[in-house]
Amino acid sequence: MTAMNFRRARLLKAGIMGSGPVVYWMSRDQRTSENWALIFCQDIAIKNGLPLSVIFCLVPEFLGASRRHYSFMLEGLREVERKLDEMNINFFLLNGSPESEIPGFIDEHRASLLVADFSPLRISLNWKKEVAKQISIPFYEVDAHNIVPCWLSSNKQEYAARTFRPKIYRLLPEFLDEIPVLHRNSVCFEENSDNRWDAAEIYRTSTDEKRSAIRHIAPGEDAAKRRLRSFIQEKLSLYEKERNDPSKDGQSGLSPYLHFGHISAQRVALDVLASMKEPGSFLEELVVRKELSDNFCYYNSNYDSRLGFPDWSRKSLDEHQRDLREYIYTTEDLEKARTHDQLWNAAEREMTILGKMHGYMRMYWAKKILEWTESPAEALNAAIYLNDRYEIDGRDPNGYTSIAWSIGGVHDRAFKERPIFGKIRYMSYKGMRSKFDVQGYIEHVSRLEQISET
Ligand SMILES: Cc1cc2nc3c(=O)[nH]c(=O)nc-3n(C[C@H](O)[C@H](O)[C@H](O)COP(=O)(O)OP(=O)(O)OC[C@H]3O[C@@H](n4cnc5c(N)ncnc54)[C@H](O)[C@@H]3O)c2cc1C
Repeated sequence: MTAMNFRRARLLKAGIMGSGPVVYWMSRDQRTSENWALIFCQDIAIKNGLPLSVIFCLVPEFLGASRRHYSFMLEGLREVERKLDEMNINFFLLNGSPESEIPGFIDEHRASLLVADFSPLRISLNWKKEVAKQISIPFYEVDAHNIVPCWLSSNKQEYAARTFRPKIYRLLPEFLDEIPVLHRNSVCFEENSDNRWDAAEIYRTSTDEKRSAIRHIAPGEDAAKRRLRSFIQEKLSLYEKERNDPSKDGQSGLSPYLHFGHISAQRVALDVLASMKEPGSFLEELVVRKELSDNFCYYNSNYDSRLGFPDWSRKSLDEHQRDLREYIYTTEDLEKARTHDQLWNAAEREMTILGKMHGYMRMYWAKKILEWTESPAEALNAAIYLNDRYEIDGRDPNGYTSIAWSIGGVHDRAFKERPIFGKIRYMSYKGMRSKFDVQGYIEHVSRLEQISET
């Protein structure tokens, strides 16, 4: 049996163990299989003959998440509950703010130890700080999302992919290991979890948005594994050639599952490597770019503000702030896809209606928002608002970092100076037309829209 490398865990707060269950506070990694935080908990539970419980704290408002996100998440969590039940592990769905719910649960059940999964986002770091202040049992954090724990891959904000890549590749032999399976727990926690799924349904069924449910992406860990299998069998060999062509379906489609933690990035990397010797560009995205995003958000608390941009780009954007804009759109114009550019409008609809814009279009989409709004700060706010509200994989370090890359030059270099963009890398409609079948993409989105409306 493979064992867990305990360097994946770190102690957030020392304390005295209680007599009740080991508690895993599941948050970012919403799966039962191949979840290092859960494996860590089970290891401690078995060694100490203790039961193991998993809790998830459902908050009514999370970074602008909408009905489509809650719906996707709740279906995934019900699957988690079913699978944990088969493993003799209780699952508790708490409703309310983690700062009060988690310490309350720990007190009530005399928990022995608390383990949380890792996220670099401010909201999650603050929750943990507040929870730590209120509990007296040991509190650990395990990075179950990244292959190399974020705090080990680098101890500072990396300048670019080229500075991060050698660091992460040096640590992959240590961390890209086989993942142990979860065992059926022998000691069961007697308490009945009796989850209030009916109360949670309110988030899923609210009618505030007309076209918000996403039906064509099935949530949950089983669906995630199916998606990975079909990507490897049918698309991986063409990924290099087709991933940047929005008129083709050449990407993996795994980001919603990775975002909600329905699948482990480590499993994806292991399976991809087992089926192809050198999946260069796919691993570059999945490992280097994705883990670099966590690095940026973790070490730069201004990850969603222009203050997080590098000095050269802030200076350059400031110098061009007053440049004449040929088109200026409000956030509402953008949201309703009411621009003069049919390619951009199709991308926007792909996101607002279908829930996932093609990766190559996302760069163009964000750069045009910079070009068509009053200021870089307004562009950044609009892009984050739309991305978080409509992308099923939104509210993710990948989103904040990629938007900061597109609008603020983060992890990028300075380019030849031009109006509005200053030294930020530019993308044009003409450039897009020379790279792929623009009309084919627009028609592809229209077809999908029609299917989704029937
Ligand atoms: C403006 C903008 C906004 C974005 N917003 C998000 C977002 O909210 N959530 C999100 O997960 N990604 C975001 N991305 C990054 C990227 O576009 C998506 O991860 C990718 O398109 C998701 O589709 P896929 O899983 O089919 O990708 P694939 O090409 O199959 O890639 C596999 C995985 O690699 C990772 N990956 C791919 N490209 C990147 C990248 N550029 N940076 C970091 N990781 C990457 C993702 O985890 C992805 O699921 C954004 C990019 C831009 C330019």
